[in-house]
Amino acid sequence: MNRRQLMSGAGAGIVSGILAHAGEKAPSNKDDQLRHETLNLSDYEPTSMLHAREIRVGRALYPVIDIHTHITESNKSINGVEMAAERNVYATPGELIPIMESKNVRSMVNLTGGYGAGLAETVANYDKSSPGRFYTFTEPSYSRFLEPGYPTIQAQAIEQAHRDGARGLKILKTLGLYLRENITDGKLVKIDDARFDPMWDVCGQLNMPVAIHISDPIAFNERYEELNNHPDWSFCGRDFPSNAELIAARNRMMARHPKTRFIVLHVGNFAENLDNVSENLDRFPNMTVDIAARIGELGRQPRRARAFFEKYPDRILFGTDATPHADNYPQQVFGGELYEIYFRFLETDDEYFNYAPAKVPPQGRWRISGLNLPPSILRKVYNENAARELRLSI
Ligand SMILES: [Zn+2]
Repeated sequence: MNRRQLMSGAGAGIVSGILAHAGEKAPSNKDDQLRHETLNLSDYEPTSMLHAREIRVGRALYPVIDIHTHITESNKSINGVEMAAERNVYATPGELIPIMESKNVRSMVNLTGGYGAGLAETVANYDKSSPGRFYTFTEPSYSRFLEPGYPTIQAQAIEQAHRDGARGLKILKTLGLYLRENITDGKLVKIDDARFDPMWDVCGQLNMPVAIHISDPIAFNERYEELNNHPDWSFCGRDFPSNAELIAARNRMMARHPKTRFIVLHVGNFAENLDNVSENLDRFPNMTVDIAARIGELGRQPRRARAFFEKYPDRILFGTDATPHADNYPQQVFGGELYEIYFRFLETDDEYFNYAPAKVPPQGRWRISGLNLPPSILRKVYNENAARELRLSI
């Protein structure tokens, strides 16, 4: 069935439904039906007619450590590779703390703290100015990748970042999908490239967890609108490796560094396949996951997802990907509304609600149901697991 046939079939149903309700007869001419039902997908904003219960969870049951936020980011990138220590700053502590207090968010972990002077400044402005409220991670200095002795230089940069107050290392999908032999061009560098071995090792030695994001959801056609809005998230064609190849390279790398702890972000980068994530959690005791920007996936399989939380209550961390003012990414705009959706998802068994503060679901046109997790699991997910990974006493 082509698109036109699909629209006309669906359209005929809608037309007859509406007219039958009004007590009139549906038009019998097929051309009339086609003309009436042409609608751009972007104009389609269906409102659910379902009368479903709505529990508002204004505050999390336990204090929250949000392991995955972006308060600052590199202010320069070329072909997807971050090239500057200097940061773009998206919000000050003064803007963030009142919302954190009202939602019971104890701490935000800013994963994209950068390196060098940018990192030191971020730690001073957040971690040191508001102790316990903010923790900052460092990032690799890819701009130095071509310098002789880069593996050692990078390991030493992590040691310096640790002295400057970084609590962990963040790997964006730059590694595996953007970084190339000549930094911005040439052959792609693989996630398990040996030149990064000293970096992973030093993170283990310094007890700095590595938060790693390696790929995006594979559900391409289901997410047609999301990819249409963000074409740069499509890694199809050219020389991009498949999702399976990226995960295999990540696994080879994690296997080589059993003493380093990895927080594999976005539900192990494979929220659509919890069997696969479970296999990897069983295989790698040094692996945990966060749920950032993937409650859309978890909440459309609520029974499977709840079983996943019940099986791995110590391995799942609360994260949102919250970014202040990220208006083009409704599923990660920092604010009370975003947190309330996450709390509702984790704490209630409400059905069929939006997973993002947006009229049209931004990551695929479906809605989610809550997991209704017991307090014993909520406490671990909200803060205990993150506190353990970050070596905090709370
Ligand atoms: Zn993120």
